[in-house]
Amino acid sequence: MTDRPLLMIPGPVEIADEVLAAASIRPPSHLAPDFKAAFSRALKAMRQVWRADDTHQPFVVAGSGTLAMEAAATNLVDPGEPVLVVNAGLFGDRMAEMLRRRGAIVHQVGSRPGGTPPLEEVDAALADHRPKVLFVTHVDTSTGVRSDAQGILALARRHGALSVVDGVCATAGEPLEQGAWGADVVLTASQKAIGLPPGLALWVASPAALAARRALTVPPPMVLDWLQWLPILEAYEAEANSYFATPSTTLIPALDVGLASLLADGMPAVWARHQRAADACRAAWDAMGLVLVADSPANTLSALSWPDRVDAGALPRIAARGAIVAGGLHPALRSTTFRVGHMGDVTRHPGRVRRAVAAVGLGLRDAGGDVDVDAGLRAFDAHV
Ligand code: PMP
Repeated sequence: MTDRPLLMIPGPVEIADEVLAAASIRPPSHLAPDFKAAFSRALKAMRQVWRADDTHQPFVVAGSGTLAMEAAATNLVDPGEPVLVVNAGLFGDRMAEMLRRRGAIVHQVGSRPGGTPPLEEVDAALADHRPKVLFVTHVDTSTGVRSDAQGILALARRHGALSVVDGVCATAGEPLEQGAWGADVVLTASQKAIGLPPGLALWVASPAALAARRALTVPPPMVLDWLQWLPILEAYEAEANSYFATPSTTLIPALDVGLASLLADGMPAVWARHQRAADACRAAWDAMGLVLVADSPANTLSALSWPDRVDAGALPRIAARGAIVAGGLHPALRSTTFRVGHMGDVTRHPGRVRRAVAAVGLGLRDAGGDVDVDAGLRAFDAHV
């Protein structure tokens, strides 16, 4: 560990040395035997990380989480079809806009920033609008709120709607059982709790989701089309040669290493260490007098109100004390909040999370905030 500041924004995040090494190879051919073997292992591992069975299809496409969202919006819905967005913040807004551009009839249930819509409202909206697909953000990164994904997915199933979970700020950091909970698509990106550099859009689709794509009247843009990618992914899983558009031949070996290390720990243990890190951070924030924005805060990040007399001018001071954290993101909270990521490899190292908590406290104090850093660190230590 060097003295460089830790990257503690809600993605990209600190990555493990072994993942960094795997991503730092001389780029191989997309047809190299070792690359095909790594791709095959990564696809199989995705099903286990997502907790989905062999009937589910993993996708890995160069891009970011937004690409995975757009692929979901365009592969499941024809223009003119009704959809429901359970909107908890900025990324729900983004999903709704993508669906509008696809020509879908977009219904939404929303909440004040930091909240999530109550299950009764989701239930009533499903009954009223009979959407073909329900979209939900598992963790909204703009407010740090976690949705009751399991409860919402159960409602979608009961009303016969397909479901899409935006897990960009959640997958591998928050418990989610794609198969048992019945999510048709769970999408994420490589740079968050999965623990890789940015650059891969990742999602797993159910047989019902693939059937919905096959039944579309208006095909999606070609590079987003699940059916363009499907034979390529099937070929890679079988370690056979194929080509549609060049995959990231350095990030996929890193994905293989990163997912294998998650599975070596076991997903329940990975979720539990995110819970422990989040509990310790929350105890520290509380002891330092810092207030979370979210009603039901996520385990992957904390969105906090700036204390009195402090604003985004404190960010460089926090960085100077050892942690790079992020400013506000939600339009209504941009100037009044800041965000600290605590997901991915850093949760394996409570000492690093503690360093980040100390940097936040000291940086806020340097900026003129009335923050009891020692009390915060004592509270942190009592939780790890
Ligand atoms: N959804 C959520 C919940 C996110 O947090 C993000 C990224 N912050 C995105 C979607 C978009 O992902 P990306 O920036 O990788 O395109």
